[in-house]
Amino acid sequence: MKSCKDPWISFDGSTVIVTGSSRGIGRATALEFARLGANVVVNASKSVDEMLKVVEEIKAIGGNAIGVQADVSIFEDCVKIVNESLKTFGSVDILVNNAGIAIPAMSWKMDDDVWRKVLDVNLTGAMNCIRAVLPHMIERRRGIIVNVSSIAGIYGLIGNSNYVASKAALIGLTRSLAMELSKYNIRVVGVAFGFIETEMTAWLKEPKWRERYLSRIALGRLGTPEEAANIIVFLASNKASYITGTTIIADGGFGQL
Ligand code: NAD
Repeated sequence: MKSCKDPWISFDGSTVIVTGSSRGIGRATALEFARLGANVVVNASKSVDEMLKVVEEIKAIGGNAIGVQADVSIFEDCVKIVNESLKTFGSVDILVNNAGIAIPAMSWKMDDDVWRKVLDVNLTGAMNCIRAVLPHMIERRRGIIVNVSSIAGIYGLIGNSNYVASKAALIGLTRSLAMELSKYNIRVVGVAFGFIETEMTAWLKEPKWRERYLSRIALGRLGTPEEAANIIVFLASNKASYITGTTIIADGGFGQL
């Protein structure tokens, strides 16, 4: 019989890739997985110093981690993330597609490059990592994929049609892949966050925007990266074993209040 001291969630012996984990939600997620026993693969495309700092933070709490510099919008880079993970830890059990960017522009002013770049990172980047890891997960008949979406993909967001399209597409991708992959014992889940306090939402520090958005959040505040990490970790855990295909909303009660 299990002791009541057993942790509610444990990832002992599992390996997780968290894309875009040099800061923000990804960093908090990498740290939480490590705290719960997982080997963690930290990733960033550009902020290498920040990425290596996260690796050090994980080692400082007694965890195992490596950092892999890679741009998820390039398929070969995602293969590199998976290969490095396998070389160091021997398996990949969980993939968290967290890397994301926003480049705001009104649709009628959005040039091809700005449209493409956001779709390439947020949507194709997730699919690139999924395609890179699937042969391994399918062979092992074991895997969990968490796609980080946004409530912007559900409600829309003025001046961000590229971002919104990418996050809405992730919700469909999650549903479709879950249907394809359940026979291989692979769960695919999504989480659509509301407003989380990170660099991406630095514009919400401006009082005009802050007041406007906080008035629409039932909890009256932004979420923290640690709160976001808790939800990702839960979805990737055995406690969420009956959840697949769904994108869970975690937005502090966003609405027309
Ligand atoms: P952030 O800007 O703080 O962090 C983004 C991370 O992605 C960084 O580590 C960055 O280095 C990495 N990254 C960017 N482009 C990359 C690429 N091409 N390849 C690899 N890594 C790359 O943002 P955040 O707020 O922590 O956002 C994390 C995820 O959560 C994103 O997908 C974002 O869309 C989503 N999200 C955020 C919010 C929010 O309010 N902050 C809300 C909903 C969804």
